[in-house]
Amino acid sequence: MSIVVMKFGGSSLATADKIRAAAARAIAAHKKGKQVVMVVSAMGDSTDHLVDLANQVSKDPPKRELDQLLATGEQVSISLMAMALENMGVNAISFTAAQIGMLTDDVHTKARIKSINVKRINEQLDQGRIVVVAGFQGVTSDGAITTLGRGGSNVTLVAIAAALGAECENFTDVDGIFTSDPRIVPNARKINSISYEEMLELASLGANVLHNRAVEFAKKYNVAIHVRNSNNNRKGTMIVAESQDMERIVVSGAALKDKLAGVTLRGVSNRPGIAAEIFHTLAKAKVVIDDIVQTIADDRTANISFTVDLGELNDAKKVVEGLSKKIGCQVVYEDHLAKVSIVGVGMRVHTGVAERMFSALAEAKINIHKITTSEIKISCFIDREKGKEALRLVHDAFNLGGKKSAGK
Ligand code: ASP
Ligand code: MG
Repeated sequence: MSIVVMKFGGSSLATADKIRAAAARAIAAHKKGKQVVMVVSAMGDSTDHLVDLANQVSKDPPKRELDQLLATGEQVSISLMAMALENMGVNAISFTAAQIGMLTDDVHTKARIKSINVKRINEQLDQGRIVVVAGFQGVTSDGAITTLGRGGSNVTLVAIAAALGAECENFTDVDGIFTSDPRIVPNARKINSISYEEMLELASLGANVLHNRAVEFAKKYNVAIHVRNSNNNRKGTMIVAESQDMERIVVSGAALKDKLAGVTLRGVSNRPGIAAEIFHTLAKAKVVIDDIVQTIADDRTANISFTVDLGELNDAKKVVEGLSKKIGCQVVYEDHLAKVSIVGVGMRVHTGVAERMFSALAEAKINIHKITTSEIKISCFIDREKGKEALRLVHDAFNLGGKKSAGK
């Protein structure tokens, strides 16, 4: 019998009615003859409320206790879901991560899954029950409760689907993955299928749909994820391994990250080891770097620029002030940057892609401060105030939407 693992996010479980609706969906699949596992998140934004509470009683909550607290959100959901299922006439049983041996390392608040024992799940499925599993949580070999990082129920979903060799459905409150953020780009379209690589690039660019670790996990175990809307029956987006026909499409999506800051070290002596020293110092101070560009200034010096999230700029400044004195260079900060990017595996085989993107920005007189690329991505740094307009223009330039949305 085939197994389906259905995950419901917080927004799809925000009320008792929504819990019953999710239960009805699982029952429909069960009636069609499938064995069903549900992975559920905490109701609505209850995890945020728990974090809030923790911060009210402590300036720096111990991470072990934070996990102990946050995991309760999912425990509420699994028990309510199992009750709803039973009430609707189907046998069900709920499990916390510890009860099914979802073992993780002991890095609290961002633990990694080490192994899952699906024996208990399989036994229950074979008895005809719908099995409801708590997302987001794990347990260490010492029995401490861990969590997998915010949004981590998607990681649970993929891990369980991989372990069971099951179909994998991710229910949320939108129709799937879009060519761009529909709140900014009104003519953004739902994508039917997208590769793991593209999805990873889009997520890191701020598309914010699926936890990157869930996609990495899915890629590693070749699990196809169906992202779909819990409020309708439409087909959503399949996140799958890259196939040749995907290359026919030049660009799959466009994304905007609009709270970025730039740091440029000018006149850095051009010798082996200097970049290593700079980025070692930044890494030691736990500053997360976005993109890096180095260019030669003259025979003896180079300019090294990097970008960080605006929120990290102060931390970066502290480090860079010290560094610039030590290595003798000038520093320039920019706190007004945004990054507009296009992503598509088709870029590998099509020409003129960069030109088309740059022309779209040029026509609207949007100045590009910096460009970075990967094999399947082109990013332009521009002024933040032009970010949204740029996103719409680039989206139109590659005909990603149905009709034009016009820049402004
Ligand atoms: N409830 C957790 C969170 O809000 C996990 C999840 O929703 O995936 O981050
Ligand atoms: Mg949540």
